[in-house]
Amino acid sequence: MTRHYHYLAIGAGSGGIASANRAAMRGAKAAVIEAKAVGGTCVNVGCVPKKVMWFGAHIAEAIKYSSSYGFDLTQQSFDWATLVRNREAYIERIHAAYHRGFSSNGVEYIEGFARFVDKNTVEVNGELITADHITIAVGGRPSRPAIPGAELGIDSDGFFALTKQPTKAVVVGAGYIAIEIAGVLHALGTDTHLLVRGDRLLKNFDTDITDALLQRIQQDKLQLHTQSEVVKVEAAAEDRLTVYLKDGTILFNVDCLIWAIGREPATDKLNLAAASIATDAEGFIRTDKHQNTNVPGIYAVGDITGEAQLTPVAVKAGRMLAERLFNPAMPNAHMDYSLIPTVVFSHPPIGTIGLSEAEAIAKYGKDHIKVYRSSFAAMYNAITPHRALSTFKLVCQGADEKVVGLHGIGEGMDEILQGFAVAIKMGATKADFDATVALHPTSAEEFVTMR
Ligand code: FAD
Ligand code: NDP
Repeated sequence: MTRHYHYLAIGAGSGGIASANRAAMRGAKAAVIEAKAVGGTCVNVGCVPKKVMWFGAHIAEAIKYSSSYGFDLTQQSFDWATLVRNREAYIERIHAAYHRGFSSNGVEYIEGFARFVDKNTVEVNGELITADHITIAVGGRPSRPAIPGAELGIDSDGFFALTKQPTKAVVVGAGYIAIEIAGVLHALGTDTHLLVRGDRLLKNFDTDITDALLQRIQQDKLQLHTQSEVVKVEAAAEDRLTVYLKDGTILFNVDCLIWAIGREPATDKLNLAAASIATDAEGFIRTDKHQNTNVPGIYAVGDITGEAQLTPVAVKAGRMLAERLFNPAMPNAHMDYSLIPTVVFSHPPIGTIGLSEAEAIAKYGKDHIKVYRSSFAAMYNAITPHRALSTFKLVCQGADEKVVGLHGIGEGMDEILQGFAVAIKMGATKADFDATVALHPTSAEEFVTMR
């Protein structure tokens, strides 16, 4: 006998969990299948452990600047293992909370790796499971370069498995993960080398912001190698690595090489062909705005769709799909993929929503764009020798100066962005920003006082 559900999600990450819970809340008999750990990438090897490490790095930075505030807090030691142990215990508690949520919503949790048998059936651990609606929410995995010795390095999953702090680390990449991991390692005292293949970091972000990030990285003495390409990695004595670059540079005595060069979709082992589910050339499952794949009754949400790879995007797409399928009051529910705010947990953090200046000019023409900028020393570090500048920026369009882009790098920017994202989503103009009374003294007030 096969088990049958109204709704089945493959993958208990951000998208699968959110959609199965919402489907069950709307009365569907729902289940979610997970091959590894409940919570998926975000909880186990992504947002959550990353943010804990970032907070750890923050404390190291605070100790460094504490003397300017009158404290005598010379750092005696730092125990990586304690931080990791407390982080993992926290993640265990999140797992338990997810299972409590499944129980209270009536979602069945099935452990195992799912493969399609036909368009209504998957096989897990030798058992056939059928469903009226199946959502593919299998996420992705880190990419590796095809160079000799690449397997001697680790990736972001491996970073979170480290039980001791690397002494000398090489991080390869110029995207979110490379910047966040290199920043944490550097702040915690590892001799960190960030290798980027071009000249820029975060190449799709506004250049004022990425220029400011480059400046901060230089001030903080994180070793940045631009125009650097790894061509070969070799094992050396005492578990060390030797990393060879294209320009002839050789990095010796590396005890941790981390590839952070993007992520690829986890569709290859799903047997999609059995259900005739189409992927693009890279293996992403593209959907329409209602998360429909090319096969009726089969949907995809989250990283696997090739849309913005962010947890709240997967969650919202999953919830909207479940509403559309099981809530008669919301037959047209769907995720709105425009104006997605995003934060990079760099040092200091970057927050951004909407168009960069270059994108806005390309879209509307230079004459229709007005840009406001502010560079200032946040009070937190203004009294320390670390008097680095924060850079905030508004990109406005048209005669009424609608705010089409808001970007910032500076202390607190991770928390500042959310409220402004609401205003921008509502169509706020520069005049609306100006009409708002500032909060003083904060960094956020710069956004409502720009001239
Ligand atoms: P996932 O969370 O990847 O879940 C997919 C699940 O499917 C996995 O658990 C996998 O084991 C399971 N699975 C795969 N194949 C099968 C199968 N055949 N059968 C059963 N189960 C299967 N986003 C943010 O918004 N903020 C952040 O700060 C942030 N930080 C990040 C840091 C790192 C290091 C990384 C790697 C990512 C980060 N992200 C962040 C991105 C975020 O984690 C992802 O966008 C999000 O997890 C995507 O959710 P998902 O449901 O699509 O997939
Ligand atoms: P990204 O797509 O952000 O960046 C990939 C980087 O790898 C690019 O800088 C690219 O360089 C570089 N690259 C690609 N191939 C090579 C290569 N062969 N050699 C050297 N460099 C290479 O991917 P990430 O892995 O950093 O992160 C994946 C996604 O996860 C992000 O896009 C984001 O959506 C999500 N994420 C979100 C976070 C958050 O919300 N704070 C944190 C972490 C991840 P180039 O610029 O030259 O193309």
